Amino acid sequence: MGNRGMEELIPLVNKLQDAFSSIGQSCHLDLPQIAVVGGQSAGKSSVLENFVGRDFLPRGSGIVTRRPLILQLIFSKTEYAEFLHCKSKKFTDFDEVRQEIEAETDRVTGTNKGISPVPINLRVYSPHVLNLTLIDLPGITKVPVGDQPADIEYQIKDMILQFISRESSLILAVTPANMDLANSDALKLAKEVDPQGLRTIGVITKLDLMDEGTDARDVLENKLLPLRRGYIGVVNRSQKDIEGKKDIRAALAAERKFFLSHPAYRHMADRMGTPHLQKTLNQQLTNHIRESLPALRSKLQSQLLSLEKEVEEYKNFRPDDPTRKTKALLQMVQQFGVDFEKRIEGSGDQVDTLELSGGARINRIFHERFPFELVKMEFDEKDLRREISYAIKNIHGVRTGLFTPDLAFEAIVKKQVVKLKEPCLKCVDLVIQELINTVRQCTSKLSSYPRLREETERIVTTYIREREGRTKDQILLLIDIEQSYINTNHEDFIGFANAQQRSTQLNKKRAIPNQMPPLPILWPM
Ligand code: GDP
Ligand code: MG
Repeated sequence: MGNRGMEELIPLVNKLQDAFSSIGQSCHLDLPQIAVVGGQSAGKSSVLENFVGRDFLPRGSGIVTRRPLILQLIFSKTEYAEFLHCKSKKFTDFDEVRQEIEAETDRVTGTNKGISPVPINLRVYSPHVLNLTLIDLPGITKVPVGDQPADIEYQIKDMILQFISRESSLILAVTPANMDLANSDALKLAKEVDPQGLRTIGVITKLDLMDEGTDARDVLENKLLPLRRGYIGVVNRSQKDIEGKKDIRAALAAERKFFLSHPAYRHMADRMGTPHLQKTLNQQLTNHIRESLPALRSKLQSQLLSLEKEVEEYKNFRPDDPTRKTKALLQMVQQFGVDFEKRIEGSGDQVDTLELSGGARINRIFHERFPFELVKMEFDEKDLRREISYAIKNIHGVRTGLFTPDLAFEAIVKKQVVKLKEPCLKCVDLVIQELINTVRQCTSKLSSYPRLREETERIVTTYIREREGRTKDQILLLIDIEQSYINTNHEDFIGFANAQQRSTQLNKKRAIPNQMPPLPILWPM
């Protein structure tokens, strides 16, 4: 890699990776990495171990990799490994590394073989590696035809997709040569997120296990299912080699010999094998980082800005000084009050252009929602007419009346007034909900102090609830008042005399019994 400075790119991203891992969920950046995907037993672990030249990954049947392993390979004169979760310990025995991966996996997933997307961060320093960051993911498990897919299969697929769908990730799709490439789980999944094959790198393992007379030349020459970044073939140690403790260096020599002597691969032996794969990945990742740098930089800058803003808010807080503590507490509570008022009463500074504030939403309830509820409750005219006519008849009893009795009028009006109760109470509920939501939004600034936040929310919400009860009582009282005396002298009512006058005019055109003047005249609601 002649280009100086470029060599620093992968270690630089590694540093970012560690920094982000240690500050947890609050900040997140998709860093350029290589995600290793493939079916179970495709040879993923073998490829990674070959890069390091050590056996350090858990092996066995079933789902062995149950948490993503972010593996940072770092070129160094001395050889050792360290985990981000116990940084003080330097591992020089790689059997211990394997044990630690197993123990750390269980620490999060429990021993019942569950899976978890929380990664384990492992760094391997070695004179044999090129700088590389790879993520070893659980193997894609196959749903046997006719069988109900188990929950864990979906979980694994989701987890893999979560990693490989990031545009920042390159995808190392590992497929064994002794299966049909068209059925490759790795390539199928890669295609879902990278349909044009722009960030997928194909790896074909187990070339030594192909049926005699068959070879993978077409695939490796990128002719069969072409990927922009092409395919690289490797030969890892077989199960027998591993059990016989075949040394990885001997395995690499055997691999080299395999490609040089195989008639189908001899002509491209220089572009095959583990060392070439490692070199290619190092170059591609470096280029990929270089291409991602501008976007990465701007994302980092915007995160920095928002962090600085947060720091500004903590400036006056000195956790060890008790007077400061009280002051800080009061400041936060006061700030909450100011924020709440701004959101309800409105304010000119920092106007939110993304969503309506609590105040604006309450305004909408009063001026749009409430009138709408009133319109919705509008009576069915036919029913009302029937009710009126029954009321009149029942009041007259056996007698026959001449005029509309006031009693009937009152009875009907009262019935209508009572109907206002429901929309009014609903309006109160909606407003209360908005107030409570606004409280929540305002306390989100206190999220670093969960107990203060909880207590503030509790006190304010209790107060709002108490007021809710009183408001509702007041509304019901008001409706009762309206109901208890119907002032027919009010100008809203045209009055019987007027009504009669109007109805006689109408009677000239249509014969309408004078007991039942047209509704709009009597009910100007
Ligand atoms: P993983 O589940 O994808 O991590 O697969 P492993 O790397 O654990 O490999 C599964 C099995 O396949 C092991 O027994 C390996 O020894 C064997 N294996 C992997 N790659 C090769 C290969 O290129 N040739 C041969 N003969 N065996 C391989
Ligand atoms: Mg594995």
